[in-house]
Amino acid sequence: MRPPFEQATARDIRIVSAQLGRPARNVLGIPARCVCGAPTVVATAPRLSDGTPFPTLYYLTHPAATAAMSYLEAAQLMVEYNELLASDDDVRAAYRAAHESYLADREGFLDVPELHGVSAGGMPTRVKCLHALAAHSLAAGPGLNPIGDLTLEASSWKPTVCVCVDYGVDDESISTDATGGTPGEGDS
Ligand SMILES: [Zn+2]
Repeated sequence: MRPPFEQATARDIRIVSAQLGRPARNVLGIPARCVCGAPTVVATAPRLSDGTPFPTLYYLTHPAATAAMSYLEAAQLMVEYNELLASDDDVRAAYRAAHESYLADREGFLDVPELHGVSAGGMPTRVKCLHALAAHSLAAGPGLNPIGDLTLEASSWKPTVCVCVDYGVDDESISTDATGGTPGEGDS
């Protein structure tokens, strides 16, 4: 989903915080979700509340997804994609268009002068972070970011197959027949 994003609920924020292992802040919305509804990509404000410019509008939060992207990076997939960019005019043009689209999405929220011309993942001329490019493709859908699309095709993790853990954000669901944790809490 490109802007306007679906509003993040309080539960979304709790899940994203659990995914990141730190409090999620400056959340603009949830541009992409797992089939189960859990966020996979969070949209973050282009300027954080402490004033720091933040270029990565589309940030991959899902732990299984980030692990899959790290695996692909370790497998030297970026070398292959940089070679593809260097040799294929169509891919190079599409990648530049994805860059421009990314900038437009972000500047629709806020024009941050420090971020002019800066998108994410190495765009528009290099492939430097598959996490950022996959996040862009998850948010925008297929057909916009050619390298993000290839990355998702190569990934063992898929947004259509839920491998989410229990993030522990649904207090109501804690029951005595669960896995033996926190006796006494959640009982009534
Ligand atoms: Zn899921």
